[in-house]
Amino acid sequence: MRPITRRSLLGLTAGATLGAAAGCGLVGDGTKDVPIGDGSMSDTGPQPHQTAAERLEPGRKPPQFVIFSWDGAGELDNGLFTRFRTLAKEHDAKMSFFLSGLYCLPEAKKDQYRPPNNPVGASDIGYFKDEHIRTTLEQVRLAWLEGHEIGTHFNGHFCSGYGSVANWTPEQWESEIEQAIGFVSTWKTATGFTDVASLPFDYRKELTGGRTPCLLGQEQWLPTAAKLGLRYDASGPGGSQIWPSKKQGLWDLPLQLIPFPGHRFEVLSMDYNMLANQSHAATTSDPGNYPGWREQATASYIAGFQRAYDTNRAPFYIGNHFEQWNGGIYMDAVQGVLEYISSQNADDVRMVSFKQYVDWLDAQDPALLARLRTLEVGRQPTEGWAEFTKSV
Ligand SMILES: [Zn+2]
Repeated sequence: MRPITRRSLLGLTAGATLGAAAGCGLVGDGTKDVPIGDGSMSDTGPQPHQTAAERLEPGRKPPQFVIFSWDGAGELDNGLFTRFRTLAKEHDAKMSFFLSGLYCLPEAKKDQYRPPNNPVGASDIGYFKDEHIRTTLEQVRLAWLEGHEIGTHFNGHFCSGYGSVANWTPEQWESEIEQAIGFVSTWKTATGFTDVASLPFDYRKELTGGRTPCLLGQEQWLPTAAKLGLRYDASGPGGSQIWPSKKQGLWDLPLQLIPFPGHRFEVLSMDYNMLANQSHAATTSDPGNYPGWREQATASYIAGFQRAYDTNRAPFYIGNHFEQWNGGIYMDAVQGVLEYISSQNADDVRMVSFKQYVDWLDAQDPALLARLRTLEVGRQPTEGWAEFTKSV
């Protein structure tokens, strides 16, 4: 057992008990502390605030799962990562944060990044200033300790032209994901920071899935994801509100088409798709439009939730970035739907991470999941739930 260091004490959260820390050092609440590699990460035992996945009892209605996910997951001065961690805590939600690996690499070290089909050090998202690498590492650490999932949004976010991720081979995806894991695993060496706490997990073991940039390249990414033992992928370029199936051995959890109030067509459950429809992808518009658009985006998410809750109980996925497009209305929309869901006080709603959700899926009888997949969007079992799940 390692002695309790000052640093490990700083790593403790409200969920951890100092009393247990003096014990065996094997409890999963941040009290174990075994540095990994250069100390950028530390093995602190099992993740706190997790509950065991249980099989659905025959004759019961499945819970309504809601999964909020964040692409990029960097903390800038606007404090959006903090804002949504705080909101999640208030409403007992767990979320998935898809970290961009480059948010752990200083720009001065950008030659360490060798993106497939792009020049060394190139990136379509900006490198962070040191102060934002610091704030991001802090948020990622706290998020994990609070029970959220740290997934991946890869590195350079290339979505167009020859270098686009859409053209990458499985081997190139492997290079990209290995570099992403590498940047998260060695930030201490890359930054030289000596006053930032280690990440309290082994990212290579923690990583369970993620979302590709711009929902591109899934077909070629999946063989690599399977090879690395990942368990789900949230990059599908568009799905609907039905129960999921596996693709190339991974759970395929795409963003979903949901009702779009005021339109006959539906919209994908992501901020970018709302933006594309409301302001033709312009990120600033006439502020006079913002209140109406905010209301429309919120109502769309609420309608998506309600349709699943009232009918087939398909899990509901929302994807978002930490952005301030159109005055921040899409951030407000995510907050709005989360607060709406919470206000229903329904004991059969679970706001969880993708990781927790696939744990639940893997705990179920595959025959039950196959039966659930037969329920189309907005349909419930004609024989009633009790009969539908009674025996499979
Ligand atoms: Zn993105």
